[in-house]
Amino acid sequence: MSARIIDGKAVAAGVRSRVADGVASFEAENGRTPLLVTVIVGDDPASEVYVKGKHRACEEVGMRSLHHGLPAKTTENELLELVRTLGEDADVDGILVQLPVPDQIDPDRIIAAIDPAKDVDGLTPVNAGRLAQGMPGLVSCTPSGVMELLRHEGVDLEGAEAVVIGRSKLVGIPVARLLLGANATVTSCHSRTRELAAVCRRADVLIAAVGVPRLLGAEAIKPGAVVIDVGINRTDDGLVGDVDFEAASEIAAAITPVPGGVGPMTIAMLLVNTLAAARARV
Ligand code: NAP
Repeated sequence: MSARIIDGKAVAAGVRSRVADGVASFEAENGRTPLLVTVIVGDDPASEVYVKGKHRACEEVGMRSLHHGLPAKTTENELLELVRTLGEDADVDGILVQLPVPDQIDPDRIIAAIDPAKDVDGLTPVNAGRLAQGMPGLVSCTPSGVMELLRHEGVDLEGAEAVVIGRSKLVGIPVARLLLGANATVTSCHSRTRELAAVCRRADVLIAAVGVPRLLGAEAIKPGAVVIDVGINRTDDGLVGDVDFEAASEIAAAITPVPGGVGPMTIAMLLVNTLAAARARV
């Protein structure tokens, strides 16, 4: 079998085009443009690249974006103060503090200080708690991007066996919760899981969010499964996922490539969240 390739770039382009329409109607109705503010502390090159991509994406859909680049020696209190000021600023719809932050700053304290109504990364304890309780709120971008890909592919999650590898606050836990909300039967795996490949082989829907290049090979894939590879790993062969793409695509029904699968969805869902945050604040 040769799996269908799930084209994240194309799905993300559709999402961005819907957001662009939504931004235009928001402006017509409210006489202002949604505004995303990003913050980077220090000069981590990867953070700079990610954040530039986010600003470019805002521009493409007609959203405003502003950036605060703070020096690496910024104290936790200085960053807390900026985050609180942005929370109180009526013009600001979305606040994104790019992680990682330097060692002198506790990222959990910073995230907890973000106004949950502007928490477009969906990482505050309030939004994570809302998700845990099945209440509406802002959901983190990569997990909601994964769900959007599954929806777009027409994957029937009702009663499906879903296996998520990884239990991070950023990806694994929220993805598992969203799948549960869609009535899948969900198994969460992590570094202590025994017989990982055997557990994965039960999956109709396999979500890999680990950060280990090609961890999951042919032995981990059920014939006909849908495989969503969140992993982005830099190797000598370039960027690869957590799944051995060549091997898995012989067995799966559909699979996301790396790059070009989940990655483009993350930024698209950030735009969705920023527009939703702006609408909710009207
Ligand atoms: P993370 O915080 O490092 O979490 C990794 C998870 O994988 C942990 O729960 C860990 O288990 C588990 N794990 C590690 N080694 C394992 C193994 N050998 N077997 C089974 N489980 C194992 O990473 P993350 O932030 O969730 O990111 C995961 C991957 O997704 C990374 O490659 C990251 O770059 C990528 N990512 C991509 C996007 C995107 O836009 N496409 C966005 C975010 C992240 P324990 O909990 O037991 O330690």
